[in-house]
Amino acid sequence: MSTSSIRVRFAPSPTGMMHLGGVRTALMNYLFALQKNGIFIIRIEDTDTERNYDPQATGIINDILWLGLHYQHGPVVSGPDAPYFQSERTSIYQTHLTQLISNKFVYRCFCTSLELEKKRERQIALKQPPRYDKTCLKLSDQEIQKQLDKQVPFIWRMKFESDKSVTIHDLSHGIINFEFKNFSDFPLTRQDGSFTFIFANFVDDLTMKITHVIRGEDHLTNTACQAALYQAFEAPLPVFWHLPIICNVEGKKLSKRDFGFSLRDLKDTGYLPQAINNYLATIGGGTLDNQILALPELARSFDFNKIHATGQVKYDVEKLKWFNHKWINELNPQELYDQTIEFIKNEFPQTTSIPRDTLTVLLQAIKPNMTTLADAAELLRFYFVRTLIQKETFTSHIDSAFIQQIATVLTESINEVAHPETYIDKIKDLAKINNIPVKVLYTALRLCLTGTLGGPTLATILYILGESESRIRIVYLINQITK
Ligand code: GLU
Repeated sequence: MSTSSIRVRFAPSPTGMMHLGGVRTALMNYLFALQKNGIFIIRIEDTDTERNYDPQATGIINDILWLGLHYQHGPVVSGPDAPYFQSERTSIYQTHLTQLISNKFVYRCFCTSLELEKKRERQIALKQPPRYDKTCLKLSDQEIQKQLDKQVPFIWRMKFESDKSVTIHDLSHGIINFEFKNFSDFPLTRQDGSFTFIFANFVDDLTMKITHVIRGEDHLTNTACQAALYQAFEAPLPVFWHLPIICNVEGKKLSKRDFGFSLRDLKDTGYLPQAINNYLATIGGGTLDNQILALPELARSFDFNKIHATGQVKYDVEKLKWFNHKWINELNPQELYDQTIEFIKNEFPQTTSIPRDTLTVLLQAIKPNMTTLADAAELLRFYFVRTLIQKETFTSHIDSAFIQQIATVLTESINEVAHPETYIDKIKDLAKINNIPVKVLYTALRLCLTGTLGGPTLATILYILGESESRIRIVYLINQITK
């Protein structure tokens, strides 16, 4: 139960794909509500029917839940302010518009889009800010009636009093004063009678009693218009927090071309929601950037007074990888198995015939080498696919001057292979005796057992393969290099 009056909301448009900026906005709303014992609401802003690729918003809701950002009111769970889809709230917008009409805060505009475009072009050519020139505000009642009689389509525009202003409080920008003379009389409706985003978004925030509007900085320009609407309704303004835009390493706004822009990229390559949340909470201040914290701990420790003022925040995949690696290592054996199994199965369908216990043990062995869940498949490739190293491949990595000694050491130590630690000690000793750098020998053995130069420790590799398989691969190499 909430014990405070704090109410925040995440209001995505159902474009079907959650991107990183949206994830961060949802997370900040969630943490804010959790820390302050408030209510976290989800509202689906589906007024732009052309962009509604996922009308039920199932994708976004699943993503929010996958991230663990549980909300109190919204689609599926419902709540006292239902419905939570803007497309179902038309009558609420209509009521509010009617109130503005009767209080003369709005006026009809009959200008066609062509006329508006021409005016705009002219203003730009004259180096004037492109703003609606209030032509229709000057229409007399008779002129308006004439247009209505002719059924000329119109929209409702907000009437900005150019000598007035409104002040908002923004957590990252501080106090901002918007002078109305700098703003255009913005549309509240479209010619088809539907409501614009700016108006619907305001009415929802008002009626849902949102106390803190936390959203991307790209909405800052809408805020002046919405603040004017709060004023018109004589309602207290919410506090705003416009989150700085996330940029890529080159300082450009994160786009589809950047890896990790969409949450799908991250899910598909095996990033854990815990890591994504933990990382996103660290960018832009508010929390230390090197602590492994789950959502409740993040909410407890997040300092909303320490968030960076403005400017860009950089998205650093390397840092995200670091968090993911740490979070993978926090998983218990069963969790690691559950999270990873699909990635392994996709790569190696034969996985289904391997007992769960065996795979659980294997995963524990490679866990320290995993950065993403998908890495498990690559790290275990040598287990699923028998690699028998050919002489040519081998000598392309190993100086042929050492070949003879390598064969000797591997032959003399083969009987210890059942006991990885003892075996490794043995080859270390034999390396010294045979005058061959131990590093060369390790590389040779790694190549022989896995066909690659990376991966887990040698002891882990031997342990995963088991005595008989390790023996087969080593004997094969000895035969190759001694023939
Ligand atoms: N529906 C808007 C968007 O997806 C969010 C608007 C808001 O949070 O106020 O960008």
